[in-house]
Amino acid sequence: TMACMTAMDAGDALGAYVHKTPDLALQQARAADARLKADDAPAMCGIPLGIKDLFCTKGVPSQAASNILCGFKPEYESTVTAKLFASGAVMLGKLNMDEFAMGSSNESSCYGNAVNPWKVDDRLLTPGGSSGGSASAVAADLCLAATGTDTGGSIRQPAAFTGIVGIKPTYGRVSRWGIVAFASSLDQAGPMTKTVRDAAIMLGAMAGHDMKDSTSADIPVPDFEAALTGDIRGKKIGIPREYRMDGMPAEIEKLWNDGTAMLRDAGAEIVDISLPHTKYALPAYYVIAPAEASSNLARYDGVRYGHRAKLAQGDGIVDMYEKTRAEGFGAEVQRRVMVGTYVLSAGFYDAYYNRARKVRALIKRDFEQVFEAGVDAILTPATPSSAFGLGEMANADPVEMYLNDVFTVTVNLAGLPGISVPVGLDAKGLPLGLQLIGRPWDEAGLLNHAHVLE
Ligand code: GLN
Repeated sequence: TMACMTAMDAGDALGAYVHKTPDLALQQARAADARLKADDAPAMCGIPLGIKDLFCTKGVPSQAASNILCGFKPEYESTVTAKLFASGAVMLGKLNMDEFAMGSSNESSCYGNAVNPWKVDDRLLTPGGSSGGSASAVAADLCLAATGTDTGGSIRQPAAFTGIVGIKPTYGRVSRWGIVAFASSLDQAGPMTKTVRDAAIMLGAMAGHDMKDSTSADIPVPDFEAALTGDIRGKKIGIPREYRMDGMPAEIEKLWNDGTAMLRDAGAEIVDISLPHTKYALPAYYVIAPAEASSNLARYDGVRYGHRAKLAQGDGIVDMYEKTRAEGFGAEVQRRVMVGTYVLSAGFYDAYYNRARKVRALIKRDFEQVFEAGVDAILTPATPSSAFGLGEMANADPVEMYLNDVFTVTVNLAGLPGISVPVGLDAKGLPLGLQLIGRPWDEAGLLNHAHVLE
């Protein structure tokens, strides 16, 4: 904890932490010391963590990197952080992210961007997003591990951009209670760590049924660490042909082939598979996620939380809502709320939202058919490129940014577990990640496969 606290101060330029909690950290570290001495050390005892700003942490600012939650200090602790603390973990502070977890570069944060510790000729790169602060902090040793959340790739893409491990568990594996909601049917929290073993241990501490989240599953949590045998002999790995996109950079193609060879050498059987509805995933995601977001974000009205706009003489309550939301939400969040409201509106509901839901069902069925045919895990690239430059996308069409999620959103739409593992470097020397997608509830198998790729 002390070493991380020193590193955190030295690493301020990365913009990874938006709020530090040194007093709490020391108090938790002392308690962890006492437990270690008493030989009563749970799995995460004394492990210094950074916590994504999306998690409500009691008495500690929790703003989802949005001005609209300015000054909000929750009265309660999210289930995930409460479980991590009960397991002995130490919180160093809150980590930067895209506003309300909407983005792929951490540039929509009200705190300003986080920076990737990896560089090319002094050019500053994004750590990815939305869990960009988490990725940057773990990669730069400003914590041992961090929490992330993933609605369409926000754990896996930043993990790939910074050369770390990130797992999005099966939908329902980890409680969403006390995590600021973005798109409730897609959101899952997960660990972002340096190694697969760390991810296995931390996921074990985060997972489990929670009465406070009706979508959390009452399914036993296995010993994920014990599953890391490295033995994948006879396992069937699917390579989905639809993920071989036109214009895919040769380095990504090579990385994918290298990963395939590693799994084959370890005794797995490699099979070509088809997930025919893949090309509809991104459009479906960018209808469903904004639709749910527009509903979830309706609660930020200037009355219940955080920021309220200064009103002029004669302003009514509607003026108050409008001014507060115009001031409090950044451009990307406003775009999502507008898109979401539009696709849910009476005249367009069937054409957009309902259509997207049907597409989602088809995507889910694609995966089910592959798993029914005996495939144990699916291997794909995690991202279409390595980390891009800060500001590079600033003037681009927003859809350019959305294309970053092309390999990851399918997993959220289908509710499956997915992990990103660092497997190599590109010609510029930047990390690249591969993604493994598993059967529902088979995080143990997924972690074991990922372990072989490390
Ligand atoms: N980049 C995606 C989006 O902007 C995913 C975000 C996420 O997973 N939270 O919606």
